[in-house]
Amino acid sequence: VQTGSSQEKWLDQDDKLLWHSMKPYNPDGTMVVSKSDGSWITSHDGKRYLDAMAGLWCVNVGYGREELAEAAYKQLKEVAYFPLTQSHIPAIQLAEKLNELLGDEYVIFFSNSGSEANETAFKIARQYHQQKGEHNRYKIISRYRAYHGNSMGALAATGQAQRKYKYEPLAPGFVHVVPPDAYRENTNVSNPHELASVKAIDQAMTWELSETIAAMIMEPIITGGGILVPPEGYLKAAKEICEKHGALMIVDEVICGFGRTGKPFGFMNEDVKPDIVTMAKGITSAYLPLSATAVKKEVYDAFKGSEEYDYFRHINTFGGNPAACALALKNIEIMEREALFKRSEEIGEKALNELRNLLQTHPYVGDVRGRGLLIGIELVKDKESKVPLAVDKVNEVIAFCKDEGVIIGKNGATVAGYNNVLTISPPLNIEIDDINYVIKTVVEGLKKLN
Ligand code: PMP
Repeated sequence: VQTGSSQEKWLDQDDKLLWHSMKPYNPDGTMVVSKSDGSWITSHDGKRYLDAMAGLWCVNVGYGREELAEAAYKQLKEVAYFPLTQSHIPAIQLAEKLNELLGDEYVIFFSNSGSEANETAFKIARQYHQQKGEHNRYKIISRYRAYHGNSMGALAATGQAQRKYKYEPLAPGFVHVVPPDAYRENTNVSNPHELASVKAIDQAMTWELSETIAAMIMEPIITGGGILVPPEGYLKAAKEICEKHGALMIVDEVICGFGRTGKPFGFMNEDVKPDIVTMAKGITSAYLPLSATAVKKEVYDAFKGSEEYDYFRHINTFGGNPAACALALKNIEIMEREALFKRSEEIGEKALNELRNLLQTHPYVGDVRGRGLLIGIELVKDKESKVPLAVDKVNEVIAFCKDEGVIIGKNGATVAGYNNVLTISPPLNIEIDDINYVIKTVVEGLKKLN
């Protein structure tokens, strides 16, 4: 830990040398992290914080796991690199393990980031239809408020205009529909197909012409757009609509995967089998860059011709790096050994119920929702209008928590004003005392609002 004047030095140097994403995102300026362990991080000035946002970058097994460092070290000494135009053992073993977790037959394409995993999925979906002679199917349906990545295709799929408009034109062929929003839409229906958010998918695919649709992409729970847990049955109904229109369903598990929502993958909260599953962050608990696009065997089989045009012409130098794969295998082993999926489900449910009880009568708390250790608290001006609370007030709560040594975040940034969902998503192995402290601090912070 740097002390005295050397602390200032790090901040000065940082200010000169690093281009940060989303600055000034952190209300209190930059934190230079110097140590991390379990659910705790230590900043440049020696102050310790409980990182209840680690889950959005998916440090699911917590910081400071020596086993993970050792797995990578050992692999780096054995085979540091080999491209996946050929093969290596950690990639094969990891693909086998992912199939076990996915519970079905998938073929795995490895990349380095969530954005790349989604780009890969879009290209596979488009070429899949080409392989089948359906040459007009290129459109990808996605939802407003969702985030799918920073590259020109993944950003085109993203439904948050503020992240996009300065960089347009993005990749063409992306069509957005309204997302599920159980807090605001009418969920009192006898069949999920009657939900406005489900009908919107069917209408878009109909009006855009079924025979032009390649796929739909969705997160099981929209995370960056405000922890939007869909009404029950939404995912299954969406899959049925994709099938009706001949489109593939891509599920983006970049945040929801690897136990965040209390199951290996978020889609498992409903009875659906996606055609393509993309994953990143939690696959290595964010210790090393790695992502994967898991493709149903039937989809992969369509590429099995012998002609050159049957190849999937997509290559990724670092994707499936041996050390990252070896680390991912160890990471999944830890999650299974410590039963972290179950723990996420149980602790998450308890935390959610407690927050609901404690905040029920709070005038600014419109909704407390989530699944597993992914929790959102939607703040509104009043409960009748459901108008989002001003972001300054949302930031006050975040700043209070930080002063008390707890890092939480906010989500929902779509258009001005909708940045009003406090987010709690700690490592899945967070100590009980620590999650209790997070809850106590957030509730205190909210009580101070006037
Ligand atoms: N999909 C989702 C749902 C995400 O939350 C993110 C990143 N926050 C991405 C894709 C993109 O991942 P990456 O930043 O690794 O490119």
